[in-house]
Amino acid sequence: MTTAFFRFYAELNDLLPKKTRFQDIRQVFKGNQTVKHLIESLGIPHTEIDLILINGISVDFSYIPKEGDHVSVYPVFESFDISTLNRLRPIPLRESRFVLDGHLGRLAAYLRMLGFDSLYRNDFSDEELAQISDNENRILLTRDRGLLKRSQVSHGHLLTTRDPREQLLAVINRFDLVSFFKPFTRCVACNGILKSISKESVIDLLEPRTKQYFEKFSQCADCKKIFWKGSHYERMIGLIEWTQKSKKDNSDGSA
Ligand SMILES: [Zn+2]
Repeated sequence: MTTAFFRFYAELNDLLPKKTRFQDIRQVFKGNQTVKHLIESLGIPHTEIDLILINGISVDFSYIPKEGDHVSVYPVFESFDISTLNRLRPIPLRESRFVLDGHLGRLAAYLRMLGFDSLYRNDFSDEELAQISDNENRILLTRDRGLLKRSQVSHGHLLTTRDPREQLLAVINRFDLVSFFKPFTRCVACNGILKSISKESVIDLLEPRTKQYFEKFSQCADCKKIFWKGSHYERMIGLIEWTQKSKKDNSDGSA
């Protein structure tokens, strides 16, 4: 039997049971087990981790803890420079694309509103979600930590809140998305790309008021749904303003 001591830092503690937060956790285990496996057995998916120190020295996920080791585990850092240490995350994906589990339909719609490629169906199995994330280099968003423990998943994020707007804010902050917003470019219904079309070509399909007040229209290349800058657009602008205000409040430390 081997005994090692695990300590989790910052928001990783949110993922632990209350009684083990912010303190050394004594783990006794049999045989050779990787540090990745031992950390995941304490409930923290590997996708949430950016740095592991053993007695102060950085190691990768394959390290086998030895008797008396002190293991310090850090979350993905947003602003703290650890570039000289052994970062565990694979190189960040160049473009943030997502695949979402079946409980995150509202979040998928919000991300599409902001222009992010977000694959969502309410009938993807766990197996399919992991496979899509791997094959298409998509960040897997889920509230299911078991799903993020699958070794196939290299980019993912565990959402700890049920509120879709809070989820959106968590994703924006975690992946630093603010400068990549491209509102009104993607279909909220199906994730297709919007293309602008002439008013004449759709005029027969429009309600009288829409016909009267709007001149510019877009159509989804996939599902053919028509969009204009009406109430949907107002809601989107409201959402963008809200995310930016919330981000500012957080960085001021006042929220
Ligand atoms: Zn569409």
